[in-house]
Amino acid sequence: MPARFPVRTTPSSVLLSLLLLLPALARAEWFQREEAIMGTRVAVELWSDDAALAQRAMAAVIAEMRRTDELMSTYKPESQLSQVNAHAYDRPVKVDPAIIDVVTRSFEFSRLSGGAFDVTYASVGFLYDYRAHQHPSGEQIAAALPAVDWRQVQVDPNANTIRFLRKGMRIDLGGIAKGYAVDRSVEILRGLGIRHAMVNAGGDTRLLGDRRGKPWIVGIRDPRNEGRMVTRLPLEDEALSTSGDYERYFEEDGVRYHHILVPGTGKSASEVRSATIIGPDATQTDGLSTTVFVLGVERGMELVSRLPGFEAVIVDRDGRIYYSDGLVPPR
Ligand code: ADP
Ligand code: MG
Repeated sequence: MPARFPVRTTPSSVLLSLLLLLPALARAEWFQREEAIMGTRVAVELWSDDAALAQRAMAAVIAEMRRTDELMSTYKPESQLSQVNAHAYDRPVKVDPAIIDVVTRSFEFSRLSGGAFDVTYASVGFLYDYRAHQHPSGEQIAAALPAVDWRQVQVDPNANTIRFLRKGMRIDLGGIAKGYAVDRSVEILRGLGIRHAMVNAGGDTRLLGDRRGKPWIVGIRDPRNEGRMVTRLPLEDEALSTSGDYERYFEEDGVRYHHILVPGTGKSASEVRSATIIGPDATQTDGLSTTVFVLGVERGMELVSRLPGFEAVIVDRDGRIYYSDGLVPPR
C-alpha cells in the first residue's frame, strides 16, 4: 500500500477537479440523506445524473440499515438476535443468513486476537447500563464470565441455526454489525450503477470510488474534544472505522465505564481512547477497530502489521497518537 498522509488539496488538483466537473454540471449532482438508525446517525451521499435513481438508491440503503437493526438489535426484544439470546441454550434457533454471516465473520477476529474480540462479551456486557450509570459488582462479573467464550457458540451454516453451549450466554453484534450493514449498502449502490458514494453508520464509513477526481477526505476526531480532529485521511474505495471510549460511558470514582469490554475480565478496556482502522471493507475495519481497542497500542499494532491492506491510527490513554507503518504521520 502506498504511504499516505493527511492531505491538503493542492491548487492544481482543485483546478483539475473543476475541469472534470464542468461537463457534468448540467445534470449530475450529489445527493445526500441522513437518518437515525441502529442507535446512531446513518448517512449516505452519492453522485448521480438521475434524480429518481438517486432517491431509490438512498432509500434502498436506509431500508438495508433498518433491516439489519430489526434483525440484530439487542434493544428490540422481538429481533432475531434477541430470540437467540432468549432460547439458544435450550435449542438451536433458526435465523436469517445475515446473522449467521456476521457471527461467523466475528469469529475470525476472535481467532486472530486470542479472544479480545468476542461477541459473547454480552454475557457480562448486559449487566452494564451506561445511561442509568449502572455497572455490575465483582461478584456479578465473576458469575457471568464463564459464559463469555465464543468457542461455545455452535453455528450451523446449513440449517442457519445458532446454539449456545453455556447457560447464561448472550451475544451482541454491536462491534461489527454496523460495518456489515455499510458493506451491504455499498453492494446495493454498486448494483444500481452508482460509482461514487460514501456510506456512514456511526463510526463506520465506506467509500465507493473517489469524490470525482479527488479522494474522499475522512477525519478522525479527537477522542476528548468533539470539535477537533486528530488527523484527516484521503481515501478511495476503502473503509474506515473508529472505536472510541466516548460513545457510551459514565464515570464513577475516577473510573471510566464505557461500552467496549475486555472479555477476560468483564471490565471496560482502558489502554486506549480510540482505535481507527483503514482497510478494504467495513465489516473488517469495524471488527478490527473494536479488537485493536481491546488489545491496546502494542498488541494492536502488531496484529495490524500482520494483516496486508490494513492500517491503524491509535490514540492511547494519555492522548499520544500512533500510526501504523503504511501511514506517514503529519509533521
Ligand atoms: P460503536 O462505538 O460505533 O458502537 P464499536 O465498533 O467501537 O462501535 O463497537 C462497540 C460495540 O462493540 C459495543 O457497543 C458492544 O456492542 C461491542 N463490544 C464491546 N466489547 C466487545 C468485545 N470485546 N468483543 C466484541 N464486541 C464488543
Ligand atoms: Mg467495531
